Amino acid sequence: MLKVSEELCIGCGICEDSCPFGAIEIEDGLAVVGDNCTLCGACVESCEVGALSLEVMEKTVQQDLSSWQGVWVYCEFRRGELAPVALELLGAGRRLADKRGVPLGAVLIGYQTGDTAAQLIGHGADTVFVVDCEPMQVFREDVYSRVLTSLIRSHKPEIVLAGATAIGRSFIPGVAVKLNAGLTADCTGLEIREEDGALLQTRPAFGGNIMATIVCEDSRPQMATVRPKVMKALEFDKARDGEIVPVEPEPDQITSCIEVVEEVVSEEVSVNIQEADVLISGGRGLESEKGFDLIRELANAMGAKVSASRAVVDAGWIPYPHQVGQTGKTVAPKLYIACGISGAIQHVAGMQSAETVVAINRDENATIFDVADYGIVGDLFEILPKLIRKIEERR
Ligand SMILES: Cc1cc2nc3c(=O)[nH]c(=O)nc-3n(C[C@H](O)[C@H](O)[C@H](O)COP(=O)(O)OP(=O)(O)OC[C@H]3O[C@@H](n4cnc5c(N)ncnc54)[C@H](O)[C@@H]3O)c2cc1C
Ligand code: SF4
Ligand code: SF4
Repeated sequence: MLKVSEELCIGCGICEDSCPFGAIEIEDGLAVVGDNCTLCGACVESCEVGALSLEVMEKTVQQDLSSWQGVWVYCEFRRGELAPVALELLGAGRRLADKRGVPLGAVLIGYQTGDTAAQLIGHGADTVFVVDCEPMQVFREDVYSRVLTSLIRSHKPEIVLAGATAIGRSFIPGVAVKLNAGLTADCTGLEIREEDGALLQTRPAFGGNIMATIVCEDSRPQMATVRPKVMKALEFDKARDGEIVPVEPEPDQITSCIEVVEEVVSEEVSVNIQEADVLISGGRGLESEKGFDLIRELANAMGAKVSASRAVVDAGWIPYPHQVGQTGKTVAPKLYIACGISGAIQHVAGMQSAETVVAINRDENATIFDVADYGIVGDLFEILPKLIRKIEERR
C-alpha cells in the first residue's frame, strides 16, 4: 500500500499533480490517498521530503508450481445456450495447451446441457467437466464460484480462461480471490513465455494508450478473462476424441444466500451487435440525435445493425449496448462502415478485427483511415443520403 507520513508531509500538493489517476488529494494540509490508487508508484519520487512510500507486501510463494498442469476454459451456458465466447476461448486454450504440451479442459456448469459437452470436445477440449443439475439452472455467484473453485483446487490447472461477459465478470474475480491467484481482465492477447512456460497476458492499460503484458510468476492458476470476439474458435471436428466427466456438487456447495426473484432479459441480450455481419457505426460527426437517424436509415437499407462510438452513447443518442470499443463491445463483422468517427484508439480496439472497414470522414487526416480498407473523405450529410438512395434503387 501507499503510505503518507503525517510527520513529513507538508501538504505542498506536488504529488497531487504527479498522479496519473487523480488518486491523491490534499485535505487539511495532508496528502490523502483515494481508493483509485493503483500503487503505480509514480508519486513516490515526486515528493521532495520523502513523505510517500510504497509498502511492498511479502510475496506468497507457492511451493510447487509444477504440480499445476493443464489449461482450462470455463464455458458459460445460460438459458439452454452455450455462450459463443466459450468456443473462442477453447480455440485460444487449445493453442496454449499445445504449446505447453498439456491437456485442455473445459468446465460446463448449467442445467439440461444436452450434447454441449460433445460440442466442446469437437471444438478442441480434451476433457469436459460437466456440472449439470437443477440448482445450476439459475446463475448465482456464490454457488458457481464455490463449484468452480472446488474443481480447480482438485485438478490444479495451471491456466484458467473465462469470458469477460456479465457472468464471467461477476464471479470469476471471486474464484481468483478464493484461490489467491492473479487475474488479468479483458486480455486481448495470450501467449506462453518460452523460458518458463508462464502465461503472458496482454491487455490495454492507461486508458488504452499502451498495451501491458502481465505475468503471474509466483502463483497458480494464472487466470484471465477475454472479451467475446477477440479470439477465434476452431472449426468443429466431429472426429475429435475426448472425455466427459460428470461432476456432482456437494450439498454445501449449492446452498446459496441469493434468492433470484425474477429474471429480466436486458436489452443488451437482444441488441447483439457482436453477431452482426454488417455494422453501420455512427460517431459525433452526425452532430445530433436527429443526424444519427441517417445511420439507422442506411442500416435499414442494407439489412445491417447499428453501432456507435462512445461519444454518441455518452450524448444519449443511442443506448450503451450499441457501443463499440474498449469500454463497449468488441465486434468482428464482415463489413464495418464508420461514419463521422475519428478513430480514437479506444474505439479501434473494438473494431479492428472487422474483415472490411469503410470510413466516411471529412477530415482526411482522421486516424480511422489508418485502419480503413476504403476511405471516403467528405461530408457525411451529403454522402449518406446518396448512398441510401443508391442502395434503395438497386433493391
Ligand atoms: C478509458 C477510455 C475508454 C474509452 N472507451 C471507448 C469506447 O469503448 N468506444 C469509443 O468509441 N470511445 C471510447 N473512448 C472515447 C474515445 O477516446 C473518443 O473520445 C471517442 O471514440 C470519440 O468518438 P467519435 O469518434 O464519435 O467523436 P470525435 O472524436 O469527436 O470524432 C468525430 C469525427 O467526425 C468527423 N466529422 C465531423 N463532422 C463530419 C461530417 N459532417 N462529415 C464527415 N465527418 C465528420 C470529424 O472529422 C471527426 O473525425 C474511451 C476513452 C477513454 C479515456
Ligand atoms: S508531495 Fe509529499 S509533502 Fe507534498 S503533499 Fe505530497 S506527500 Fe505531502
Ligand atoms: S501510487 Fe500511483 S496511483 Fe497511487 S497515488 Fe501514487 S501516483 Fe497515484
